[in-house]
Amino acid sequence: MDRKKQAREIFRLLKKSIPEPKTALEFRSVFQILVATILSAQSTDVQVNKITKQLFRKYRSIKAFAEAPLEELQTDVSSVNFYRNKARNIQNSAKMIISGFNGKVPRTMEDLVRLPGVARKTANIILTDGHGITVGIAVDTHVIRLSNRLGLSEHKDPVKIEQDLLEITPEKDWPVVSHLLILHGRTVCNARKPLHENCVLFKICPSREE
Ligand code: SF4
Repeated sequence: MDRKKQAREIFRLLKKSIPEPKTALEFRSVFQILVATILSAQSTDVQVNKITKQLFRKYRSIKAFAEAPLEELQTDVSSVNFYRNKARNIQNSAKMIISGFNGKVPRTMEDLVRLPGVARKTANIILTDGHGITVGIAVDTHVIRLSNRLGLSEHKDPVKIEQDLLEITPEKDWPVVSHLLILHGRTVCNARKPLHENCVLFKICPSREE
């Protein structure tokens, strides 16, 4: 099967098994998804949602994040990994949005990746899930692993994998490609013990073990 056909079949089956593919992070504004996504690096969405529930009650605007005493903000997020850096990045992003972007979270990849703590993956999430603008596909460790296992890309580099996924999937699917692969990766195609026998992709997966 060529790669485009393989991709079409994979995403048809995944869409059938995951009817509502969306992020598990909880947010009510574009800035809140920026905060949640920065916090989520190497932490679980469950942990992040626990923190942001209180955090978004306490800091109700971009200005509030910008003006908070840094040590207090760090304490407020201290149950995630790398919390000192993450809090600093959140605060500096808030300051830059206020001073350089009129208080509005940027709407382009080029501007978003200028914010501290925001690389291409985070920017794709903010654009797609926050602004509803899709120009790319967020590639995290699940997307890397599944793209390799499913024969969608042989690369390890997230930028090259994103390029491959953009080439072989129709534009209308771009907003859900990442969510579908992440959710399937979390629930079935785990890193250590993929549940081949319970997998809807078993018949077409080049990495299945009978
Ligand atoms: S068949 Fe196995 S390796 Fe392939 S996607 Fe399913 S769980 Fe992953």
